[in-house]
Amino acid sequence: MHWDPTYHTNSKALSCNPNTPGTQFGMYGDYHCDPPLLLLDSAVKAMYNIKSDVDFLIWTGDDTPHIWNDTILNKDVVSAIIGNQSTILRQMFENKTVYPALGNHDWSPKNQVPPRSDQLYDTIAEFWKYWLDDEALVTFKQAAYYTMMISNKLRMVVLNTNLYYDSNKLTEAMPDPGNQLQWFDDLLNTATLHNEKVIVVAHVPPGVFEKHRNKHWFYPYYNDLFLFLLKKHSAIIGSVHMAHHHTDSFRVHYEDDGTPVTSLFLAPSVTPWETTLPDVMGGLGNNPGIRLIQYDRDSGRVLDIHQYYLNLTKANLDSTDQWLLEYNATSYFGVPDMSPSSLHDLAEKMKDDDQLFSKYYKANGVLYDPDERWVEEMRIVHYCAAVNMAYDRYDECIRSMEAVSGAVQDISRLKVFPILVTYWLVSLLMD
Ligand SMILES: [Zn+2]
Repeated sequence: MHWDPTYHTNSKALSCNPNTPGTQFGMYGDYHCDPPLLLLDSAVKAMYNIKSDVDFLIWTGDDTPHIWNDTILNKDVVSAIIGNQSTILRQMFENKTVYPALGNHDWSPKNQVPPRSDQLYDTIAEFWKYWLDDEALVTFKQAAYYTMMISNKLRMVVLNTNLYYDSNKLTEAMPDPGNQLQWFDDLLNTATLHNEKVIVVAHVPPGVFEKHRNKHWFYPYYNDLFLFLLKKHSAIIGSVHMAHHHTDSFRVHYEDDGTPVTSLFLAPSVTPWETTLPDVMGGLGNNPGIRLIQYDRDSGRVLDIHQYYLNLTKANLDSTDQWLLEYNATSYFGVPDMSPSSLHDLAEKMKDDDQLFSKYYKANGVLYDPDERWVEEMRIVHYCAAVNMAYDRYDECIRSMEAVSGAVQDISRLKVFPILVTYWLVSLLMD
């Protein structure tokens, strides 16, 4: 959500990009800034109005504004912001369980989420004790990960992947920060014995950012270990839900023989904030998004995603917040469900089908700029990121796709050549 408490309609808030033009800002927010409380309230009310009687809620983290320096955004401010948003969710969804994950911005100094107990973990645990059981609170206070049963046979596992983020200097070159990987492996071994299925939630995803040629988040060593565990336990992992990119995308993980075994979903953000990351390809921001996930209660697999959005420009112009259905994933993408094999087929089809990729691309930015054009290089990066979360495989994918795409360009140049020759001959004959 990235709430900016300093947001004001007639002055530049602290989270606004330095190049923000003008001094007037929309009541529901601005693409250059993190959002006002009004937008957060609006998003949570829209969630309630769309469907109040849900099984549970997933909150994928990152609650404080960008850019703030760490002196302003100290631990007291961070905990106050997380506390306020926890209250908003608790009051709106009174009797529902929210499974929150900690984001890299839910800390001070930002990204430095520690692999050991800390007073701030204890403070956040106080906000979340209404949702988390005693056992979950114990591990949360150790390093911000936990597990709870959703039902008899379906388990929620919330991980603190900020420990693997390469901006986190506290966890560089550790064998297993917070002992989380060992805990995750042991937990899923036991879950397998008990015939349970699992839904995994975290903030920072493994793999590569699909809007950038060379941007990944995990230290390479942790990326490998994490992907190894996802593959090892793929038989019981129904789905994985993460965030951090602010974009709407998906990832597929595979067995060594190429069988697609895991679906990983990247949910778009409520904040419309345009990224300041250098060399991002395409639009920098997004419209605020929320999603309703239809899932199989036995397996934890995702059957469909109902993605909703707020057209921020229109909301500000009309002074009203009308959240609309952006798509139902199955009918929008023409797939039977969101299983690993369906997502694999979708990714493979997008490689050649311009219209299908355009639909995915619009959704990727939550209709931020529906007229935006993409170029082949962007499609290659989106595709390779979606089907290769291992860094070396992603690099190999880019290399081979660009070799093919280069060959295609060469052929099209050859097609032009005979036409030019013909034209030249015709010109000669006419002379
Ligand atoms: Zn983040």
